[in-house]
Amino acid sequence: MKSESAALRAIRGMNDVLPADMALWRSFGAIVEAWLERWGYRAIRMPLVENSALFRRAIGEATDIVEKEMYSWRDALNAEELTLRPEGTASCVRAAIEHSLLYDGPKRLWYGGPMYRHERPQKGRYREFYQYGAEVFGCPGPDVDAELIVMCARLWPELGLKGIRLELNNIGSADERSWHRADLVKHLEAHEGKLDADAKRRMHSNPLRVLDSKNPMVREVAAQAPPLAGYLGEVSLAHFEGLKQLLSAAGVEFTLNPRLVRGLDYYNLTVFEWITDALGAQGTVCGGGRYDGLFAQLGGKPAPGVGFAMGCERLVALMKDCGSAPAAPRPDAYVLYQGEGTLEYAFTLADALRGAGHSVVMNAGGGSFKSQMKRADASGAWLALIVGEDEVRAGEISVKNLRSAGEQQRIGRGRVAGEFAAILQKVKA
Ligand code: ATP
Ligand code: MG
Repeated sequence: MKSESAALRAIRGMNDVLPADMALWRSFGAIVEAWLERWGYRAIRMPLVENSALFRRAIGEATDIVEKEMYSWRDALNAEELTLRPEGTASCVRAAIEHSLLYDGPKRLWYGGPMYRHERPQKGRYREFYQYGAEVFGCPGPDVDAELIVMCARLWPELGLKGIRLELNNIGSADERSWHRADLVKHLEAHEGKLDADAKRRMHSNPLRVLDSKNPMVREVAAQAPPLAGYLGEVSLAHFEGLKQLLSAAGVEFTLNPRLVRGLDYYNLTVFEWITDALGAQGTVCGGGRYDGLFAQLGGKPAPGVGFAMGCERLVALMKDCGSAPAAPRPDAYVLYQGEGTLEYAFTLADALRGAGHSVVMNAGGGSFKSQMKRADASGAWLALIVGEDEVRAGEISVKNLRSAGEQQRIGRGRVAGEFAAILQKVKA
């Protein structure tokens, strides 16, 4: 037992983002959200907690997420089985069904926020992590698959990122996968001696995932397995051709990866991942695909769906490595005061300037003139506004330019807004 006075720490794999990094996070968020809106996507917000059954049904029992990564519990107050969301698509589809969002036609939606998975924490892999997701509901054609992919291709340079490559696969329809599956299982059974425990367990519950194994022995068996591509019919092939054509027309390069199956069961036809080599093992920054069966699987009227989710921690880490961190925000002014009657004078001055639209930081915690001046410098403010007994008596304020040493002048309290704005403009120029 730790003593009651021992310092408490954050949960493993759940990160504080400190002010020094929040500027980058916020600029990342602003760019991504503006980009989503520009492409016609509208924001939606779903709860962080859902019925556990939603994720079991949507993601599939034999997946990493449902088998071992979900934060689930029974609510002690009413015995509901609940789960912290591990991803957003299931909730988004649930919300679309629940609120009949498709009654007047297809929808383009986006959301952002934290997701929760009980994984082994390491660089780029956390237990609480943030995603932005985009989903298109109600459109069956490859044009929206292409739209989602091309929009990502256009985002990376906006974020200042290079070297993010696209991998693409066509995993066909559920029927085509089940025909392939029968032959795949036969092949895996014939080479069972070379499979590891994970692959043996998956062999019957989710054999496609065995193809994605990182174990070299298993990979060797996988390489000899009958390829899924051989089982795809005309409709699936035509969809994929349509997608590839639009990608080529847009000049977006891709690599076909027949092993790409993704970790969630609901996908069909198109699956894709955006990958970088600059982050080590956790190189996938965005993943997505089509999920035409999910609406029906969750009890809704059948409707096609396609979307992606991007991992914010990985993208922000890339931005940081690229040196695209924005400059720390600079207040317009730092107000300091000393002497009889100066607090109230300074306090109302700061209030008035904020009312005129300026960012103003008020000295807090008292201190000598010298220490207040130090804080003013450290705040990064453009100007220091100094209020002493002398200024109060004269109905004035001393203004000091913090960005060029020494320069100081007085302005009248009565017309402070106009004079302050004029000085600020000159200093910033
Ligand atoms: P990975 O193969 O890296 O485990 P995934 O296929 O499980 O990823 P998705 O469910 O497709 O991931 O989620 C989309 C994106 O969210 C990933 O590409 C990744 O950038 C990010 N992501 C997923 N899990 C985590 C995590 N535990 N920590 C940080 N980011 C994550
Ligand atoms: Mg994963």
